[in-house]
Amino acid sequence: MDIGDILALCKRRGFIWPSYEIYGGVAGMYDYGPNGTAMKNDIIGSWRRLYLIGEGFVEIDSNTIGPEAVFKASGHLDEFSDAIVTCQGCEQSFRADHLVDGMHPNPDSLSLDELQAVLIENGVVCPDCNGKLSDVGEFNLMFKTVIGPGSGRVGYLRPETAQGIFVNYPNLLWFVRGRLPFGTIQVGKGYRNEISPRQGVIRLREFNMMEAELFIDPKDKTWPRFDDIADQKLSLVPQDGIERTVTVKEAVEEGIIANQALAYFVWLTRRFLVGVGVDPSRLRFRQHLSTEMAHYACDCWDAEVELAIGWTEIVGIADRGCWDLSSHADHSKTDMSFFRKFDEPVEMEVDRIRVNFKSLGPRFKGQAKSIATALEAGDPSDVIDGIITVTVDGVDHKVNSDCFEVIRVRDKVTGERFIPHIIEPSYGLDRIIYTCLEHAYCKDGEGYIALKLAPSVAPIKVGVFPLMGKDGLDDMAQDIDRSLRDLGIRTSYDDSGSIGRRYARMDEVGTPWCVTVDYDSLQDGTVTIRYRDTKEQTRIPSSDVPSRVSTMLREGLLTWADPLSINK
Ligand code: AMP
Repeated sequence: MDIGDILALCKRRGFIWPSYEIYGGVAGMYDYGPNGTAMKNDIIGSWRRLYLIGEGFVEIDSNTIGPEAVFKASGHLDEFSDAIVTCQGCEQSFRADHLVDGMHPNPDSLSLDELQAVLIENGVVCPDCNGKLSDVGEFNLMFKTVIGPGSGRVGYLRPETAQGIFVNYPNLLWFVRGRLPFGTIQVGKGYRNEISPRQGVIRLREFNMMEAELFIDPKDKTWPRFDDIADQKLSLVPQDGIERTVTVKEAVEEGIIANQALAYFVWLTRRFLVGVGVDPSRLRFRQHLSTEMAHYACDCWDAEVELAIGWTEIVGIADRGCWDLSSHADHSKTDMSFFRKFDEPVEMEVDRIRVNFKSLGPRFKGQAKSIATALEAGDPSDVIDGIITVTVDGVDHKVNSDCFEVIRVRDKVTGERFIPHIIEPSYGLDRIIYTCLEHAYCKDGEGYIALKLAPSVAPIKVGVFPLMGKDGLDDMAQDIDRSLRDLGIRTSYDDSGSIGRRYARMDEVGTPWCVTVDYDSLQDGTVTIRYRDTKEQTRIPSSDVPSRVSTMLREGLLTWADPLSINK
């Protein structure tokens, strides 16, 4: 089985289609068909249940286009690029790190010069036409656009949903009534102008993300529910490259994962992935090497799954420190700090601003008094190059150092101000969907295909068939179908072809249960329920079908409190 088998099934059965196919398609762009969309929505639903209901996070929905300033602050404008080489013959472009796969243990960690050296050492030529390659250059992955008519304002399609959460931090902090920690999620599109996307939905130019941002006190990265899952096991590949299975508690105590909160979200990610159908034996968490880690990250782990194309990252979980909020605070000149009140005022040495009225008075005349008050309440760390800006009645005033001095005093302090840290689990939804499909794909010796999808994400939950579309069998089957739909359960009513063919169609789209109405049903009111994975068939009263199916579905739903799925 390879990626082609899965993509062929996806196309045939309405999961995933190449976009704009009638115009020849566009590399790195795919659409979800009806079955794929249903599955996608269920996976999002499972994820929301864990984060919104399980953890009490809040959800927002921000813009997908942002002004340049946002991406200057986020670092994407300057840093978000891949190494590119272009063939001087056929003019195809390639990611330089992909071309040296297998020639270096970790091409991701190489600088442009190092990549160039590996390409030359190995005599790498164009994989399509054997042509000579250009020197390695940098290619920014963001899609640029213009906001408004004419030359307008430069904007970019967001390369991740996270920035929409960071820029809303002041609103969010207010919304949660000023407490830490708090978490926010967002589900939506991300756009990356990938250089040469060639692996189906694994590398897309427009893709779906589910991101969670946890705002947390840097001095307290414990997590309230940590003890409940402390003994759960994780398969980890730390920076030393040696894979080991440890408990979540050991991972933190032995310093393998930086802190409790990060370890908790690594575990929650495992729980989510296994819950939606990722095979736990083909799932591991790999720590970024220090050369791979984004410059701001304190610790970062990728959830990797084994696919036919090899181990592939599907989720990144990073402790991003205070980098994002500090940078947006600097660039937007907005206060992104948090004030933590001590239980009791504490006496300590602190810096204060003392006003020099002799200079301030003549300089600011009638406003001197209110500016002095603002200065005295100001934060000495806001003095930059001897100048501090204070705001009085909405107007900014730049005050030079001859009007004040910073002195060290002993004082009672009621609390402290800091920039919250951020822990971010970032899920690539398309890769998760693809993994669920590939891990569920079973083909027997005769070429019979069944998708053993988790019922909670199967696009169709129940196939309902009358043996014949007549003699009242159809009426009875339609009643069953209706009663399931009334409970919000997706069904497929099918009265065409042999029963065997109908089962096969349902197996191929991963439908966990099928219900068949036959002539005995008319006599005794029972129907056959068939189970996809065992192919077992039993007769149950038709009136029991809705409750039986709802119970089986509920058992598979991801809720935090369900001990069965916690232990999976
Ligand atoms: P990143 O922000 O690069 O850590 O990406 C977060 C997640 O998004 C990754 O773990 C991937 O699952 C997913 N992802 C990143 N780039 C792409 C892409 N071009 N196509 C599809 N999924 C992607």
